[in-house]
Amino acid sequence: MEKFKPGIVISAWNRSQGRCECTNTIHGHGPRCNKPLMWHMQNREGEGGWVAVERNWGAAPNLANCVVMCNECKRKGRGVGF
Ligand SMILES: [Zn+2]
Ligand SMILES: [Zn+2]
Repeated sequence: MEKFKPGIVISAWNRSQGRCECTNTIHGHGPRCNKPLMWHMQNREGEGGWVAVERNWGAAPNLANCVVMCNECKRKGRGVGF
């Protein structure tokens, strides 16, 4: 965790439009979680908390591999594709 450069995380955040990008359907949300998040809550617990996670473990830490994910989804696990 936390191996993405700040610029990558900012780009991922802009792409996410401030919402959880998780597409893991076993979590029980729709095709995409879309939970509203808050920028200043990165790596923090509480309302709007989120983390930048790797889509594929071991892959390059670039934008394509960086996913904005709410704490809830992170706790539920990555499952297939995460
Ligand atoms: Zn989520
Ligand atoms: Zn999820």
